[in-house]
Amino acid sequence: MSKFWSPFVKDLVPYVPGEQPKLAKLVKLNTNENPYGPSPKALAAMQAELGDNLRLYPDPNGERLKQAVADYYGVQANQVFVGNGSDEVLAHAFHGLFQHGKPLLFPDVTYSFYPVYCGLYGIDFEALPLDEQFQIRVEDYARPNGGIIFPNPNAPTGCLLALEAIERLLRANPDTVVLVDEAYIDFGGESAISLVNQYPNLLVAQTLSKSRSLAGLRVGLAVGHPELIEALERIKNSFNSYPLDRMAIAGAAAAFEDRAYFEQTCAQVIASRTAVVDGLEALGFEVLPSAANFVFARHPDRDAATIAAGLREQGVIVRHFKQARIAQFLRITIGAPEQNQALLDALQGL
Ligand SMILES: *Cc1c(COP(=O)(O)O)cnc(C)c1O
Repeated sequence: MSKFWSPFVKDLVPYVPGEQPKLAKLVKLNTNENPYGPSPKALAAMQAELGDNLRLYPDPNGERLKQAVADYYGVQANQVFVGNGSDEVLAHAFHGLFQHGKPLLFPDVTYSFYPVYCGLYGIDFEALPLDEQFQIRVEDYARPNGGIIFPNPNAPTGCLLALEAIERLLRANPDTVVLVDEAYIDFGGESAISLVNQYPNLLVAQTLSKSRSLAGLRVGLAVGHPELIEALERIKNSFNSYPLDRMAIAGAAAAFEDRAYFEQTCAQVIASRTAVVDGLEALGFEVLPSAANFVFARHPDRDAATIAAGLREQGVIVRHFKQARIAQFLRITIGAPEQNQALLDALQGL
């Protein structure tokens, strides 16, 4: 701590992202990146941007990307917000939509960035326990709140909440914003974006980091009622007018336009997930039902931290959370077939 800090900085508890190791040879199954590269059309669009034009500021509104997203989902461009990764989009939503003097509600086992943003923006929260099967209990969310947020599928469990349950949640909370964080929706769920015209309190966030394989580009988005989007635009334009650079706007728009590549690579990840689940179960693991590009698994009589350390010695890294209820689970990203096989071989050898 330094006397130069604004006083609140000493109380911040920042988010800790999964390790990005310097060693290239590791089988990296710890941060839910896509094993396949970005769309070749996205790469070409970015290459075309790489020139003299970079002396000029980008479009502050990212209109080309907003239109590509709007076209993809059949909504209007004024229902779309874009930002520098969905983490930034979520931060603006916490800042602009969740500060109402009542607690924000989210599951006890969920994306660990949510309590961090609550700390940054001074928002109280209640973490509501998932049930014994690690599912969200929608009934629990019918209580006074300043907003509701959860990932769907949930992270790090991979469990999906049906759209019908999300509608029950929306109807029970018409006066607060329900933010559905769909970072993994393309790997097995149906997007709640189909509901935004019916529910003005619904905001859906997505990222291009996972299913569109652009984690390094930093692009995220939100879709909802134009009034919700307007709040996010006000925050953004009071913070950073140009969160997306020229390459990000061009690359992300092209990625949304290349539906065929996107669908093919998602299908490959989903097929590999089935193979990984089968392989883990054959080794005695219990695996939660996953609709994501990762699985959450535990072994009934082997310690998760010990398994993670043993895998690391063999060059395979997975994610382990030292947290109540999930300390005996490992979160394992679905990789390319040869990476998945390396994981199963390493587990076999432990
Ligand atoms: C990966 C992830 C994000 C963040 O995505 P970025 O766009 O890379 O910032 C947000 N929410 C959840 C649940 C995630 O897993």
